[in-house]
Amino acid sequence: MSAALARPAALPEVPRDVAGVVRDELAPIVGAIDGGLYPDGVLRGLGAAGAYAHHTQGTPEGLIRAVEAMAAVGATCLSTAFCVWCQDALAWYLAHGDALARDRHLADIANGVRLGGTGLSNPMKAFAGIEPLALTGRRVPGGYRVRGRLPWVSNLGPDHPFASIFALDDGRRVMAVFAAGQEGVAIAANARFVALEGTGTYTVMVRDAFVPDDDVIAPDAAAFVPRIRNGFVLLQAGMGLGLARGVAALMRADGRGSRDGAALPLGAEGIDARAADLWTRFVHAAERHADPAAGAFRETLRLRLDISWLALEAAQAAMLQFGARGYLEGSEPFRRLREAQFVAIVTPSVKHITRELAGG
Ligand SMILES: Cc1cc2nc3c(=O)[nH]c(=O)nc-3n(C[C@H](O)[C@H](O)[C@H](O)COP(=O)(O)OP(=O)(O)OC[C@H]3O[C@@H](n4cnc5c(N)ncnc54)[C@H](O)[C@@H]3O)c2cc1C
Repeated sequence: MSAALARPAALPEVPRDVAGVVRDELAPIVGAIDGGLYPDGVLRGLGAAGAYAHHTQGTPEGLIRAVEAMAAVGATCLSTAFCVWCQDALAWYLAHGDALARDRHLADIANGVRLGGTGLSNPMKAFAGIEPLALTGRRVPGGYRVRGRLPWVSNLGPDHPFASIFALDDGRRVMAVFAAGQEGVAIAANARFVALEGTGTYTVMVRDAFVPDDDVIAPDAAAFVPRIRNGFVLLQAGMGLGLARGVAALMRADGRGSRDGAALPLGAEGIDARAADLWTRFVHAAERHADPAAGAFRETLRLRLDISWLALEAAQAAMLQFGARGYLEGSEPFRRLREAQFVAIVTPSVKHITRELAGG
């Protein structure tokens, strides 16, 4: 067992600088982020603190450290933790992909010099047979011409890169990097969300955009995705476990509510205990992340599902403890409840996972 895997399950080590950015830069603006502010400076600060670079070597230890950093963010703000996941996921594909795209983009993403996203919800659903691929492409000299529409891609802004997958006429699927605002790639903010509004989430319209061969992450995405899908999903552990820990801390700090709610079925200690068990499962799953087998992915999905249940139940427990105080507009427990719902609906959602585990 490696040093990282031998660490006490309940007390993951948070990189010191990440903790400092969370405390000094993120915590003071969580209300503004909940209201729609995109935390550009915080995300760049987290990049400078190394939050997006841990997992780029593809090792289990790196994956664990990336999730530790994301969980430290998620304990305070799930919206920002989701942006961290977007950045981490993009770095993960690039680190495992073709050398040209990796050399062009990975360093800037891993350092947070450029912020970017991932339009893989639709492809993940397409690989599960839930819906067709939204982007289609055709081969042209030096690259591809691509068109289609992605309903939501987060962590975007002008010039931000993002990865997605398009289908060719011959049935092949290609993963590549696009950039918001490049010729033929327009973004539009045409919805307002009840939470996660500060995630820079846009609809992406791709109209005959040129994707050069240099920006291709994987010319055969059907072969590539099984290699990266465990890591893609396991990285999300930082969102749900971070949120659960943050909720437990919130409940514990509420002395009166803790006393009044002592007989409630789930309290701060119960949440922390379940989070510690799930952390142990995550650490073991990280060790096997490179296994492309369907059975390994089902185990990853089971873990992801259990983390979603914990996030939902923890946030609900805080509402029950806070009572009417939690029901007031602007309350912390209500922010956490709205955020927790996102853990359960972002791809792979509870609906998606239960379908896959049911074999349908
Ligand atoms: C704030 C926000 C940010 C987001 N950011 C991103 C992002 O950065 N990148 C990204 O790629 N996505 C992003 N998404 C999308 C997200 O990951 C999920 O794909 C989306 O929330 C799932 O919505 P849905 O469950 O309603 O399914 P939909 O995507 O609305 O469903 C699509 C179609 O599939 C069908 N379908 C869905 N599930 C099943 C099932 N189990 N069985 C059979 N048919 C099914 C539906 O009926 C529908 O026809 C974001 C969403 C939100 C709300």
